[in-house]
Amino acid sequence: DNHNMFAYSMKQDLNSSGQNYITRVHENKMFQTKEMFYVTKVQATDGTERYIFLESSIEPIDSTAQIIKKQLIYITVILLELAFIISLFISRRIAKPITAITASAKKFAEGDFQVQFNGTGYLEVAELSEVLNKARGEVSKVTDLRKDLIANISHDLRTPLTMVKAYAEMIRDLSGDNPVKRKEHIQVIIDESDRLSNLVSSILELSRLESGNLELELEDFDVHEKLHEVMNRYTILMERDGYNIQLELDEDKTCRADTAKIDQVLYNLINNAVNYCGEDKQIIVRQRNQNGKVRIEISDHGKGIPQEQLPVIFDRYYRGDKYKRETVGTGLGLSIVKEILKRHSFSFGVQSTEGKGSTFWFEMNEI
Ligand code: ADP
Repeated sequence: DNHNMFAYSMKQDLNSSGQNYITRVHENKMFQTKEMFYVTKVQATDGTERYIFLESSIEPIDSTAQIIKKQLIYITVILLELAFIISLFISRRIAKPITAITASAKKFAEGDFQVQFNGTGYLEVAELSEVLNKARGEVSKVTDLRKDLIANISHDLRTPLTMVKAYAEMIRDLSGDNPVKRKEHIQVIIDESDRLSNLVSSILELSRLESGNLELELEDFDVHEKLHEVMNRYTILMERDGYNIQLELDEDKTCRADTAKIDQVLYNLINNAVNYCGEDKQIIVRQRNQNGKVRIEISDHGKGIPQEQLPVIFDRYYRGDKYKRETVGTGLGLSIVKEILKRHSFSFGVQSTEGKGSTFWFEMNEI
């Protein structure tokens, strides 16, 4: 067959060439492969001549290398494209929320406090937008606070100042020589000045409480001792002006709070009860222990508070309108109470029936 013929022709070539061996490359047309043939002549031990005939395909090595080379190029190109697409995708995903946040931050810087920072996708970006949202909340709170604080303060300061000026002019022009009138008018000026100074200290107190950078100085105290101490402050009022402030105590307990602040809560609530109490001038300060808490109630038998006003009674500058200016304080008392109790995480509230009276209460955790 073909092979044998080829081998035979090589044998002839070897003999005619006179060399030790010859090689020849043969191309296989059918399989498109190349083969290398090697033939040499050896002397066998029995003296006969033998031919060693070796055949090896050389094409596969070449073609495998070729294929691997090609594949490598394909894979490299595919991987490069893939890497490019993935990096594009990732950078879009990272950049998009950051671009959005930057746009929001620009608006925020221009004074738009309604702006929302939406950073979804990556944890860090989400965190960043959360922090920015918080910061925005704080800044807008401060800005709002400043706006209506200025509006309210200027209004509240103007009223007593107008009074002071009016009475001072009255003394200069009319009552200067009339000792009785003069004394009366000077008293108005003194009262209005007191009101002004109370107002200013209340505003300062409230803004310090609301700014949130006021540290509570917590300490343990006995409820009985504290209530007796507060009541002592009112003895003059009771003796001089006929107020009847009753203390109803439960079993003594120890609580933990900022005592100076709790004093202020009690004073503000009792002062309100004194200001708004009924004809009987009776005020009850009650201690009630329940469910591990010490509840303090301050009740009066005054006009009470209309139902629809109850939700706003603790708001800053809220004032019932049916009271005459003389009896009313700054409109800040209850908001100071609210801020202090909120800072302590004590619950508080008010119950009131119109015509019967009001009860303001708060609850401290007992230790
Ligand atoms: P003010 O200085 O006006 O008393 P507050 O913040 O202490 O300010 O109180 C707000 C408003 O709540 C008062 O103006 C009044 O209308 C109402 N109020 C407070 N305490 C009582 C009370 N014990 N009885 C009736 N109304 C009250």
